[in-house]
Amino acid sequence: MRRALRQEANFGCAICGNPLIQIHHIIPWSQNPQHNPSDMIVLCPNHHAKADAREYPEKYLRECKLNPHNICVITDAFFVGTENLTVSIASNKFVNISRILVVDDFDIISITKESQCPQLNVNFFDEFGRWAAIILDNQWYVDRSCVWDIDYKPKHLILRWGPRKISLEVEISDDVVFIRGNLYFNGCRIEATQEDLFLGGRSAIQMRGCIAEGAGLDAAGTAIALSTGRIPFSDSLRR
Ligand SMILES: [Zn+2]
Repeated sequence: MRRALRQEANFGCAICGNPLIQIHHIIPWSQNPQHNPSDMIVLCPNHHAKADAREYPEKYLRECKLNPHNICVITDAFFVGTENLTVSIASNKFVNISRILVVDDFDIISITKESQCPQLNVNFFDEFGRWAAIILDNQWYVDRSCVWDIDYKPKHLILRWGPRKISLEVEISDDVVFIRGNLYFNGCRIEATQEDLFLGGRSAIQMRGCIAEGAGLDAAGTAIALSTGRIPFSDSLRR
């Protein structure tokens, strides 16, 4: 039911679109103590507090429920405050290295540096080659038409293809970014479970507990580079 309410509002506050959302009862719980989705709406903490204080008439909230703010792209930003960021993909750790996962010379996961702060970049394609989500300099954007669920809490974003099918999970804890999920590029499948990183599908390369340390985010360095042998996406457009 929580997902259905999130989806109805296109994964953002029905009033402002903020993806950090809570569930509000349009009819106060004290008057009608039941979980009826038609009387519930998702709101950000700010608008939830105002709704709880009865700032909005019921009619307004019902209009917002019918015509939520978000239409197609959902966005917010992570804050990565540390200088020494480790990226953990499954149980593998990448320290001080800029290009972390590259396929056909295209950066799937990378870290850049701006005024001493590391910036996370992830290009997330689905198995059909659609650009479903992007994290660009810590700001994340999701094309809601490509995903079944967007579950966002502070420092923690989960995108799902379907029930219990995690497609991308990014979790930030102090100085580590944890990345799990299923990523695709040029037909190459990259799967990161809790423990294992499979490069090129389950029967290809398996990595567990590896540590790659680079010479710094300003230095040239690539941790994992894969080549599919396919024509690069940009070249195929030129033909
Ligand atoms: Zn709001």
